Formats: sequence, C-alpha cells, structure tokens
Amino acid sequence: MAGEKGNAYLLAGGTDLLVRMRGEFIDPDLVVDIKRLPGIQEIRKTASRFSIGAGVPCAVLGRNKALVRDWPGVVEAAQLIGSDQIQGRCTIAGNLCNASPAADSVPALLAARAKAVVVGPGGRRQVAVEKIVTGPGTTSLGKGDIVTAIVLPKRPSKSGDAYLRFIPRTEMDIAVCSAGVSLTLGPRNVVKQARVALGAVAPTVVLVPEAARAIVGTRLEDEALMKLAAACGAACSPIDDKRGTVEFRTEVAGVLARRAAAIAYDRARRKA
Ligand SMILES: Cc1cc2nc3c(=O)[nH]c(=O)nc-3n(C[C@H](O)[C@H](O)[C@H](O)COP(=O)(O)OP(=O)(O)OC[C@H]3O[C@@H](n4cnc5c(N)ncnc54)[C@H](O)[C@@H]3O)c2cc1C
Repeated sequence: MAGEKGNAYLLAGGTDLLVRMRGEFIDPDLVVDIKRLPGIQEIRKTASRFSIGAGVPCAVLGRNKALVRDWPGVVEAAQLIGSDQIQGRCTIAGNLCNASPAADSVPALLAARAKAVVVGPGGRRQVAVEKIVTGPGTTSLGKGDIVTAIVLPKRPSKSGDAYLRFIPRTEMDIAVCSAGVSLTLGPRNVVKQARVALGAVAPTVVLVPEAARAIVGTRLEDEALMKLAAACGAACSPIDDKRGTVEFRTEVAGVLARRAAAIAYDRARRKA
C-alpha cells in the first residue's frame, strides 16, 4: 500500500468502501483485503486487555461472553451498526477509520479508553482512538498505515459502560446524536472514574471531560446528572440538517448521556 502511486484503500468488511466505490465517489487504484491476514479475525483476552482484530465482524463481538461481560456498551454500540447482513461483515476498525462523526462504535470506544494498534512503514504503535479521526472522512493514518486491532484496557471491578443513539426509526439509520459512557465505582458506589463521549454533534466524535467531572464523586444524583447533561450540551457544535436541528441535537445529546450514564452505573453496581 505504501508503494502504490495512486489511491490505495484497505478493505475490511467493505460496508462503507464498496458503497463509495459503487457510488463512484472514489476510484481506487489498489484495494487490499485484510481479512485473511494472520490473527486479524481473532479476539484475544489477556490479563491486561482485550485485543479485537481489525477483521472481526461486529456480529462476532456479541458471541464473546467475556467481552460482553466486561464491555457491554462497546458491544451494544457495535451491534447497532446496520442490519444482520451488515453485521456479518462490518468491523469496529472500519467504523473508526471511515471517520464518520456519526459512527456508532466510536463514542463507546472513546469512553472505553480504547487504543488502535497501527502498523505501517514507520513500524508499530498504539494510538488512542480519539487521535485517529481528524475530521469528517479524514484520519491521522499515514500512507500504508493500517489498524490491525482495537485494544480495550483491563476492566477494574465495579465498572460498566453503555451506548445510546437517537434515530427517527428503530434501526438501519444514522445516529442523529449519540452518547457513550464508561465508569468505575469506588466504595459506597461513588463514581471514581468516568469518560463521556458524544457522536454526531461535532465534526468528530468528542470526549467531554467536563461531563465526566460532573459525575465523579457522586452516586449519580439528579443534580450530578443535570450538570453532566449541561456539560454535554456545551460541548456540542452540530450541523443543522433535515435529520436534526442544532437545538434538537444539543438537547438530546445531554438526555442520551444522562440515560447512558444511568445504565452504565447500574451495570457497574451489579458487578459489585
Ligand atoms: C446498509 C448500511 C447500514 C449502515 N448502518 C450503520 C449504522 O447504523 N451505524 C454506523 O456507524 N455505520 C453504519 N454503516 C456504515 C458501515 O457499515 C460501518 O461504518 C462499518 O463499521 C464499516 O466497517 P467495514 O469493516 O465494513 O469498513 P470498510 O468499508 O471495509 O472500510 C471503511 C473505511 O475504513 C478504511 N479501513 C477499514 N479498515 C481499516 C483498517 N483496519 N485500517 C485502516 N483503514 C481501514 C477503509 O479503507 C475505508 O476507507 C452502514 C452501512 C450500510 C451499507
């Protein structure tokens, strides 16, 4: 890929790439299918992390009991992508590298503090997921760089995550706005750590540290949740289009973040 003089594209599930090729939005000189690279279809759990190969279809994530137990929010986000047919092909690495602000798995991955393993002409490195996407359709990946896996860190006990999106239909639609929350509880179920990320409200998925700060040190009392929602609203700079106005997206992002935080909190508490 690095040696190709024209446009080189990597093909994972192809559920974005083939649509763009068929629509004649892109005309690649080279397409490289990664699905048969050794290890690319594996989910590996070690003492310190989960590593999800870049070729693992989203449908497979939900069958991995250990992954569902530790990262239910990441799995539910990945499994909202498309339909059964799309699920059989699409990947979370492809969802990330396609760089849509509305990508469903990305807020959950940011909230989870996920890293992308990037291999390319410069060697191998781990990059925080929030550093991969630089704008709508653009990434920080260099020529010949490929993401080989998405890594999720070891889960402390009493942790939970959740992802919610708003769409006008029940499925097969692009998020009008979305929220991913991951948190860890300390003694007496007080939130010790939290990460909050929003989708479809800015040119990239955004982390909202202020929203996380609003719930750390609390048991998610109403006041803390209202502060979290306000911080989310303040972090929104969405577009106005036929799918949702600026006002609607800003309001609903806060509502979704509140609800996702409550679900993540319940999941964490049940692990106690
Ligand atoms: C009918 C339909 C419904 C959809 N519904 C949703 C939805 O609800 N939510 C949602 O978020 N998306 C949706 N999508 C978009 C798409 O399915 C997802 O973005 C999917 O996760 C893309 O993964 P993929 O493996 O198919 O990527 P591909 O199409 O293979 O690749 C996407 C882009 O990323 C690059 N790429 C892929 N893998 C890597 C890698 N490992 N390293 C570097 N670059 C890479 C490719 O070169 C390409 O530019 C839908 C698409 C369709 C056709």
